[in-house]
Amino acid sequence: MDLLLDVNVAVDSCVGRKPWCESVDLAIAKCLAEGGRLWLYAGSVQTLDYVVRRALQRARSPAAKPLSAKQLAHQSKSLLKVFAEDKHWLAALAGEGPVFDSPDPEDEQLLHALDRFAPGSIKLLTRDEVLLKDHRDRCVSPEAFCQQPATQTGMGFIDLKTQQDALRPQLEQGIHRVLHHGQYILGPEVTELEQRLAAYTGAQHCITAASGTDALLISLMALGIGPGDEVITTPFTFVATVEVIVLVGATPVFVDIEPGTCNINAALIEAKISDNTKAIMPVSLYGQPADMDEINAIAARHGHLPVIEDAAQSFGAEYKGHKSGNLSTIGCTSFFPSKPLGGYGDGGAIFTSDDALAQACREIRVHGQSARYIHGRIGIGGRMDSLQCAVVLANLERFEQDIAQRQAVARRYHALIQKKTGGKTDDKAHEATGPGQVFTGRKAATAEAITVLPWPAPDRTSVFAQYSLRVQHRDDVQAKLKAAGVPTAVHYPMPMNQQPAYAHLCCPECTPVAAATAEQIMSLPMHPHLTEVEQRRIVDALVATEGTTRLETD
Ligand SMILES: *Cc1c(COP(=O)(O)O)cnc(C)c1O
Repeated sequence: MDLLLDVNVAVDSCVGRKPWCESVDLAIAKCLAEGGRLWLYAGSVQTLDYVVRRALQRARSPAAKPLSAKQLAHQSKSLLKVFAEDKHWLAALAGEGPVFDSPDPEDEQLLHALDRFAPGSIKLLTRDEVLLKDHRDRCVSPEAFCQQPATQTGMGFIDLKTQQDALRPQLEQGIHRVLHHGQYILGPEVTELEQRLAAYTGAQHCITAASGTDALLISLMALGIGPGDEVITTPFTFVATVEVIVLVGATPVFVDIEPGTCNINAALIEAKISDNTKAIMPVSLYGQPADMDEINAIAARHGHLPVIEDAAQSFGAEYKGHKSGNLSTIGCTSFFPSKPLGGYGDGGAIFTSDDALAQACREIRVHGQSARYIHGRIGIGGRMDSLQCAVVLANLERFEQDIAQRQAVARRYHALIQKKTGGKTDDKAHEATGPGQVFTGRKAATAEAITVLPWPAPDRTSVFAQYSLRVQHRDDVQAKLKAAGVPTAVHYPMPMNQQPAYAHLCCPECTPVAAATAEQIMSLPMHPHLTEVEQRRIVDALVATEGTTRLETD
């Protein structure tokens, strides 16, 4: 549970005001220990400063010479600066201005501000008797809060909250700027994001789109792919990759995956190329680029087929020193909130260094419009709006740091699982096409039960959109991890060529590795803010779970 600090308790703690500061500090410590956040209302800054000064003057012994106004101002500001460091600022919103009908406008503002939070997720910490009496459900005294049973926040599969906390000033400023300039469609944020992302990837052009799915769809349309055409892709992906091929009227042709990376197996592509093949669409799954050089070489040998990289999960990753998204004719990514670079809604982007393709994508994105109300081609309403671009621009500020933290989390998982299962040194870690490292060793009972995917080869990096591994008896493992408070997910439980809508296109036996992977793959919680303590808990539960599973099935 979060706490919004009323001015009186904030000042108690800030200046160590006796006798109240003790219980306030205990309440603050309890809130933080339980994973809650402490908020200060940004509209209260002046009152805080005023009350701190008064408290400082009163705390002096009557014999002491009173502090000068200048000294007081200086002391108050330094104390408040330190005090605010581990607190979050809660913006004062327009609706919290007209509170003059209230007997206490300032209290009224704080009560209003609480309404922004999910019900029951925050309380106003105060020792104001009137507030405590009149708003018992929303206010709590430090003493009463300390008496409450602990409410440990559960572990999340992803954590967008911590990210938001870290970037709140940039997010709020970006969003409010859009509200004020009013260019909601194709506003300055859209251009800025496109320029920043083009520079980031090294591609000549970046065209944002309403979603990752639309980015893929627009790309296929720009390439003129349609009925009678075939597009080679992987069955082991999110449905959007395959959906867009069918939407333009073309036929997906599925090629099996590598067991180690779960990406399309480049060695199997050539056998599937026909006269009708018009593009190859690899997916850089879980954050790791597919073997793009191999795929580009095959495409070049077959009449320079265009290659579209679905980089929805791999944006930020590198392949031989180049950024994912800029590894082939076209790259597409997604800013779905849970992706490594996400927004707070739908969004996506297309990357290309081909001027004509870029122009075509820009026109298709706006109903095929080449000039105002002149529609030279068939298009869609596929723009990303200025507000979403503002959110992604804010998140971009921490993106490199996020990637480094994701990689550190993945490395820790790798090491922890290896240690817990008594595995040997991971010396074949980068044999990316192999089945992954099966940990064997002391705990023979778990030997074939947990298989981590090999660490990315030295010529590429992963942004670990997911940390996925293989487990036997997945349903049992997931159920027991859930009981231990560890959320898991499956990416993906059914290859596309087994899905009801697409099953007629190819049989599961044609892609046996994808079929087998879908039975065993499981993803552990993954986000940049996962702590080592949490990871130990997860791996302990995973390994323990495995032992029990074995006993049950033996
Ligand atoms: C998320 C995702 C998409 C679709 O992106 P949206 O922005 O949700 O439309 C496409 N392909 C893959 C591999 C994805 O993970």
